[in-house]
Amino acid sequence: MRYVSTRGHAAQPSFSEILLGGLAPDGGLYLPAVYPQVSGAELDAWRALSYADLALEILKKFATDIPVADLKALTDKTYTAAVYRNTRAGEAAERITPLHLIEQDGDKTLLLQALSNGPTLAFKDMAMQLLGNLFEYTLDKQQAELNIFGATSGDTGSAAEYAMRGKHGIRVFMLSPHLKMSAFQSAQMFSLQDDNIFNVAIKGVFDDCQDMVKAVSNDLAFKARYKIGTVNSINWARVVAQVVYYFRGYLEATTRNEQKVSFTVPSGNFGNICAGHIARMMGLPIDQLVAATNENDVLDEFFRTGIYRVRKSSETYHTTSPSMDISKASNFERFVFDLLDRDAVRVKALFAKVDTEGGFDLSGAPGSDGDEFNKIAQFGFASGRSCHTDRLATIRDLHARYGLMVDTHTADGVKVAREHVKSGVPMIVLETALPAKFNETIREALDTDAARPAGFENIEFLPQRFEVMEADVAQVQAFIVAHTGL
Ligand SMILES: *Cc1c(COP(=O)(O)O)cnc(C)c1O
Repeated sequence: MRYVSTRGHAAQPSFSEILLGGLAPDGGLYLPAVYPQVSGAELDAWRALSYADLALEILKKFATDIPVADLKALTDKTYTAAVYRNTRAGEAAERITPLHLIEQDGDKTLLLQALSNGPTLAFKDMAMQLLGNLFEYTLDKQQAELNIFGATSGDTGSAAEYAMRGKHGIRVFMLSPHLKMSAFQSAQMFSLQDDNIFNVAIKGVFDDCQDMVKAVSNDLAFKARYKIGTVNSINWARVVAQVVYYFRGYLEATTRNEQKVSFTVPSGNFGNICAGHIARMMGLPIDQLVAATNENDVLDEFFRTGIYRVRKSSETYHTTSPSMDISKASNFERFVFDLLDRDAVRVKALFAKVDTEGGFDLSGAPGSDGDEFNKIAQFGFASGRSCHTDRLATIRDLHARYGLMVDTHTADGVKVAREHVKSGVPMIVLETALPAKFNETIREALDTDAARPAGFENIEFLPQRFEVMEADVAQVQAFIVAHTGL
């Protein structure tokens, strides 16, 4: 399998060659040159597989330059009941991402797929844990090392650190805005005592952290000398790892391949739902892929109008589903590439226009950049939006009616899923975090605390290890230099 850039760069690298990198050299994102197809016979055979074996079957189709026996060792090590601790009573822990019934109204069925039982209680662990093992495997083979440098507002940083802790050849330097994360999120990251994890709390906001990561990424000499890499959401291996649970959810919700299901996905950077799009392009019988946004509704606007209009930082709201407070969805270009029939010249022009004019228009209106809006339904996409009052209402409603507690992002998903569920097609809402991570809003909605999974009871009281620094690139670079020994 070779990979192409959405902006048409000539080289077609392999899976291993793009594993440790980010953007293609022309600023595009990588996608497979052709989507591998899944036959009905394969789907039938996959019904009986464990999560780890299903992950192997899917990974095999994309990572064709890694020996299958090695891939098997990696998926077996990653997808275990010990890593994804599904502690729900009466449920087999080995199921890893079980479906739960939310509600049934006639033949309208709403299901929840539990993706947040990994070490940091958010769906990002589903992919990041595999990435940690893949990185270690590849670096060991090349006898190389990598210094992962990133910025986080909460979930990505902790998922990356828990995936990379204790791995040889890897160090993590993670910037976060000082005193801006929830107490739970800070404690999760700062209580890690592993030698290869470095937390730096920046006196500023998330954008300041993000700008410093960009500044260092643009310093090519520094980047090369200190072997700087990233694990952000455009990483192709992360997307592939996410494809697996769409198959799993489908297979668990159906008994025959003639049946279809739909998914609603709480969306920010479009990474999660992009994996759903890829599963659908591989032939998985998905009816709708519904993107749920919060008040930061760039994606909802696009799927309703065909107009993509990114917002400035000053127009990006800080909401109670903060992991979706994103106004420039970094994986969206992957979908646009397919929507435009893989016309890299047009994709390149459209995303140049995002930089110069803040967006593009595919509505088909006179003077627009194209009329592909009318093809969106063919790809199954739909969308909806949920705001703070919707979130509170949904959390209260699910709790009162079913005794079910969901986090704020998942609540946005349930609100939007209810608007799109059709008769006879099960709608699966992806649960993107556990409520314990966003307890402040659970208290506001329910006047009670979210349950904490075992092992997290006293996390705020564990000793913490982090550096506080000004938003100063030179100071951060000096810190990296001092701790890499390079
Ligand atoms: C990251 C995240 C999202 C958004 O996922 P994308 O892949 O960026 O669209 C939604 N909910 C939670 C809890 C997250 O951590």
